[in-house]
Amino acid sequence: MIAQSALIVSTVALVAALVPVRASSWVAGLGLAVPPLLYADALVLIRIDRHLPAVAALLMNAHADENRQLLEATGIDLRALALFLVGIAAGVGAGVWFDRKLGDRSSDRTRPARRRLLCLAAVSLLATGALEAESPHAVSSAAWARFARSVPQLLEAAGPTRRALASIRVALRPPLAAPETSRRMDAVVTPGDPPPGDVFFFVLESLRADAVSPATTPAMWRVGDDGLRVDAAVSGGNVTQYGWYALFASRPALYWPPSPDDTGGAIALRIARARGWRIEVLTANDLSYMRLDETIFGASRALADAWFDAGRDPVSPAERDDRVVRELSARAAQPHPPAVFVVALDATHLPYTWASSFTPPFVPYAGPRHYIHVQTEASERVAVANRYRDAVAYDDSLVARFVAGLRDRGAYDDATIVLVGDHGEEFWEHGLVSHGSEPCGIQTHVPLVIKPSRALRAESDWSSPKPLASGMDVWPTLLDAAGVRGDLGALLMGSSLLRGPTSAAPSANQRYWYRPGRFVIDDGRRKVELELRNPDDPFEMQEMDVLGFRDAEDAPTDAGLTASAYVSLLRERFGPSLDRFLVVQW
Ligand SMILES: [Zn+2]
Repeated sequence: MIAQSALIVSTVALVAALVPVRASSWVAGLGLAVPPLLYADALVLIRIDRHLPAVAALLMNAHADENRQLLEATGIDLRALALFLVGIAAGVGAGVWFDRKLGDRSSDRTRPARRRLLCLAAVSLLATGALEAESPHAVSSAAWARFARSVPQLLEAAGPTRRALASIRVALRPPLAAPETSRRMDAVVTPGDPPPGDVFFFVLESLRADAVSPATTPAMWRVGDDGLRVDAAVSGGNVTQYGWYALFASRPALYWPPSPDDTGGAIALRIARARGWRIEVLTANDLSYMRLDETIFGASRALADAWFDAGRDPVSPAERDDRVVRELSARAAQPHPPAVFVVALDATHLPYTWASSFTPPFVPYAGPRHYIHVQTEASERVAVANRYRDAVAYDDSLVARFVAGLRDRGAYDDATIVLVGDHGEEFWEHGLVSHGSEPCGIQTHVPLVIKPSRALRAESDWSSPKPLASGMDVWPTLLDAAGVRGDLGALLMGSSLLRGPTSAAPSANQRYWYRPGRFVIDDGRRKVELELRNPDDPFEMQEMDVLGFRDAEDAPTDAGLTASAYVSLLRERFGPSLDRFLVVQW
């Protein structure tokens, strides 16, 4: 990190040497301030999926409560933040002062300033070289690439522009207006009989596709044996809000966030209530993050009949998961009307935690502060991945306890259990760690298990595994199995997995704080990466760039074609999938 900062300082100094002397003092001052800013940005990003400018925007919006939560989530205390800001101001001030002080002694105001800055650049480049030679932890090209890609909002603009293979004109299909939504919901037919048992809908943080396996998660794996598994389940995107949005709103994350007028919450949950289910939320996450709670459960969380929130309890995520699953078991054991229990578990999010009573099975594992270091050695990386698998195994032990309770009461067969991740998690498969940085399969594929109750199982095709599913398909599948009929296709963009293969799934890349612009369409075997040029106005007709075709492992395919051939390929492979949510001028 020091060497990376030195590189930045030397670059800034070189630039400063070429600008007029008056401006150079300011550029030199900024040069001292930029590296700590970039460093802080990288730290904040890996902790809470947000870049520093987003944090700054929040701090300025005067929502004191949200600001306090945000600061708590970063783990930065107020004194450290104040010191950091003073440090930056001091850095800028010192650069300006030194430059002016030394400049005053010279009779010629231009040449010495430039010579001085060139010296500074040369010294810091030498220092970089020395660090590089001294330690493998200094600037390796892989570490630099990772760092550069973890701060895309600052460095992407300075880097080379990615050349599109082709572009076509598109617009996002506008969502139905509220009166039209109500009219179509009224036309949906729900059976008059009581709803078929409880639905336990578990959303696990950062659960990558291969995390659910007989070795790591025996309990979840056994639930999968009794239900439907999916070979390739594609999340709504590579961050929490996109994953949850696709799962519950049954729409691509390109629609996130919904318009402020859209206060009714997720249509699928509104239909589930019409079917007769209560909706109870038990969460170890703070679901007010990115306003997920109101986006999914409506204004004032009106769709939720009960809300158990451990998301702000001052204990580790693992302890919060434990509290949530204990509460879930208690509620499930009490006599109650049929309910959908939405359960959010958090221990599997970075930094990956488990309760002190749990013996982590995968060793050696990294310490809890692994995320503030750069791991370059293979053994260090294995230790971080082991820590993640240990956290997954811990959450599996909670699921095991819960399922054992259902079995003891004879309630297992009448329970529907959904296990799904909100997005994946990368361990350097493509050079990066964690999630939210690239729409690769490792960050966007998740496990998906749906174990139907006896009543839901009847007369439907639950053959398993299904080759492909989108997070958007989960609720259409549950509602279909529960006998809900009518034109659901107009209300939900996913489709029932019980009615045949799903079409290729969209999955969006984080564009912090704003609507996503870059996304992939993924059919499990191959994908295409696309980008809207004006994602902030997605309903306006605009250019969409075709960035590349990839195979299942994200290796580029189909090199060397003409632009029109790429458009034909796009239409041939993914046309029907795109047409579901885009108006395309082919
Ligand atoms: Zn997440």
